Amino acid sequence: MRVINFSAGPSALPLCVLQKAESEFLSFKGKGFSIMEISHRSAVFDEVYKSTVDSIKRLYALSDEYEVLFMQGGASLQFALAPMNLSQDKRVEYADTGVWTQKAIKEVKIQGKECVIVASSEQEAYSYIPEVSFSDDAAYGYICSNNTIYGTQYRTLPASKTPLVIDASSDVLSYPIDFSGSNVGVLFAGAQKNAGISGVTLVIIRKDMLERVPQNLPTMLRYDTYANNQSMFNTPPTFAIYMLGLICEWIEGLGGLEAVKERNAKKAFEIYNAIDTSGGFYKGHAKENSRSNMNVSFNIVANPALEPVFVEEASRAGMLGLKGHKHIGGIRASIYNAITPSEVETLTKFMREFVRKHG
Ligand SMILES: *Cc1c(COP(=O)(O)O)cnc(C)c1O
Repeated sequence: MRVINFSAGPSALPLCVLQKAESEFLSFKGKGFSIMEISHRSAVFDEVYKSTVDSIKRLYALSDEYEVLFMQGGASLQFALAPMNLSQDKRVEYADTGVWTQKAIKEVKIQGKECVIVASSEQEAYSYIPEVSFSDDAAYGYICSNNTIYGTQYRTLPASKTPLVIDASSDVLSYPIDFSGSNVGVLFAGAQKNAGISGVTLVIIRKDMLERVPQNLPTMLRYDTYANNQSMFNTPPTFAIYMLGLICEWIEGLGGLEAVKERNAKKAFEIYNAIDTSGGFYKGHAKENSRSNMNVSFNIVANPALEPVFVEEASRAGMLGLKGHKHIGGIRASIYNAITPSEVETLTKFMREFVRKHG
């Protein structure tokens, strides 16, 4: 019996993806070995690698200007690598929308580089996405497209003449992005929230960005090392790449990112609707125009002492991972791609019943 898993990350995976992995676990495509037991240089793994890259290119409709890289070290290593590889001793500009951008800004400062914070919603507990505008002459403009903790998300990417660097760890592959049109230089995401399991970081980089990498960077910290070696200068996280490939295949089966976007928006709407029609019992953390389709953070304003009761009763009803992040407390439902509309319905029914019982 499986629970409904609203964890923020690592998070739920689609049941059919887990079943596919299970069916191939001991003997990959009938070959008598697991995909975990085979050389990353083998033809068998090369096929997995290539089909995963191709699938990502199809889903995002990437032009040949873009490279798809698989790296390690999580999104957190990207916080350091982006300025290291791309700043060219120019000023970089950051939009501060919470804990994850703060951590990214810290990594720029450690390197002694000039970092300008062009916008911040810190004064209002990061409850909204501020108006963001980057200077044309900055090395790049940095945003976090979905703020996992506060449940805020950009509705549209900021128009920018300087390339964007985007931390999309918690909303990658959840809606279509016009990479060229939006001037995306780099988009990165730890896979374990919306794109698979921990261990692989997806990096989509425009080729001109690779020309910026300075000569004095160590081999493993250079984007061009990954681009020039099919992400296999050393041993890549083979199983995590395989799982990412299965997730991409599953998304294509759902009809691609346009279909997934619509499905996600409906799911999120149902929960926000349960909040908004609770007569003030629940209150969402994010302001309405910044609400995330991936993470819904909310409080029981009528009586905060009921928040742990909510989490406990939900857990007894088979729903896990609903405790809010320590920074803002309350309740958080992470409803990434893998969460089904019917699982969301179970949650909203529970929310309404909870109001009747305790309101
Ligand atoms: C979880 C998360 C991270 C950190 O990812 P790691 O892969 O654990 O380093 C960074 N940014 C955002 C937006 C996240 O949600």
